[in-house]
Amino acid sequence: MNRRTIVVANWKMNGNLNLVEEMSKRLNQVQLDESVDVIVCPSFPYLATMATKLTHKNVYLGAQNMNAQTKGAFTGEISTTMLQEFAVKYVILGHSERRSIYQETSVEIAQKVSAALNSGITPILCIGESADQRTAEQTETILAAQLQPVIDEIGIEKFNEVVIAYEPVWAIGTGKTASPEMAQATHQYIRQFLSANNTEIADKVPLLYGGSVNAQNCEALFAQPDIDGGLLGGASLKVDEFSQICSTVKGS
Ligand code: PEP
Repeated sequence: MNRRTIVVANWKMNGNLNLVEEMSKRLNQVQLDESVDVIVCPSFPYLATMATKLTHKNVYLGAQNMNAQTKGAFTGEISTTMLQEFAVKYVILGHSERRSIYQETSVEIAQKVSAALNSGITPILCIGESADQRTAEQTETILAAQLQPVIDEIGIEKFNEVVIAYEPVWAIGTGKTASPEMAQATHQYIRQFLSANNTEIADKVPLLYGGSVNAQNCEALFAQPDIDGGLLGGASLKVDEFSQICSTVKGS
């Protein structure tokens, strides 16, 4: 199965108008393998400006979060309807920082995934285990517990329109990357888990790896058969490094 390769930039609460300007200028000129897509997810205040600047046909705009409701008395929240006005095509949901700092549950995340799909925005669903959970050999149980509520909410067929990012929490922003073999083994498990519900869908879902990916380690990680690209935090804030990663990534 030929899946598209996807590189996602998660700026988190970083960046400024200057970075919007510099990154979009560079990405508009980047040479991408024809089966590679790049998704840039700046903070909300920068979406509108970024939307006017990105011109590359395979570089898309994404948000870092959203509310599952379409409108109403939810001070400080952002709806899919608002995101759509700024050409946002993707949204990161269930990032480990949302799960741990803001106590988002897998059920709430599943509701957001459903709301994103209903409005035509592709969810990038993040899942991953903590260091303690990996040491206790609970990785597969944790990943299954994060995936099942989403399957229950949207049905397995809808995973046709979902991107999954496996991000071991211990590797995010720590410089400790999972080895390509370890990441591949976990991705293989995720695909098998989905496959138990629907083999065809499992084969099609893009599975990204996230956790201290950089220009040095990306090729070995992305070369693994079940790794279809990456979700990058720190490296996505560096114009030279991020554009280099995007242009060296090969499609499957
Ligand atoms: C992330 O933002 O999800 C992430 C993987 O960050 P970093 O690449 O800095 O580890």
